[in-house]
Amino acid sequence: MIDVLKCACKYKIMTEDLKFSDEKVEVLGKELKKRIDKKFQRSFFIREVDCGSCNACEVEINALNNPYYNLERFGISFVASPKFADALMITGALTKNMYDALMNVYEITPNPKYIIAVGDCTKDGGDFKDSYAVCNGIFDKLPVDIYIPGCPPEPVDIISGLLKLLQKI
Ligand code: SF4
Repeated sequence: MIDVLKCACKYKIMTEDLKFSDEKVEVLGKELKKRIDKKFQRSFFIREVDCGSCNACEVEINALNNPYYNLERFGISFVASPKFADALMITGALTKNMYDALMNVYEITPNPKYIIAVGDCTKDGGDFKDSYAVCNGIFDKLPVDIYIPGCPPEPVDIISGLLKLLQKI
């Protein structure tokens, strides 16, 4: 304990300053918030569904909720149940094991519902295309409203994609 305190006195604050400096995120986020307030007068709720991704897309999506991006301040909330969701955010090549689960999730999501496809895998299977275990993406299975390309897309690309969806609906 003494060593920890000595170290704290010597090096002072070791964490990164959270003062936000990414102007692009701020501009996109403020526009997003404006459109969500106008259309919904509440937050926009998203249920994330991993349909067999390598998890790199999830890492980028998770980053949206860290203190740096802090997406909730722009009116976006991730929910645990599709029953409370306005949109499904889907990643992965859609493994055959996940096909029925995805269709069930789509069924129980209330209308109107929006489909956000994140990552190259969702389009045609990406790097896993034509594997015996995948259905080569979701585009011919669900009505995709917005596609966010990338392998994986960066958080700012996902925010930009969300704004495009909000501009459409
Ligand atoms: S698009 Fe790329 S990063 Fe995302 S799940 Fe597929 S392989 Fe992984």
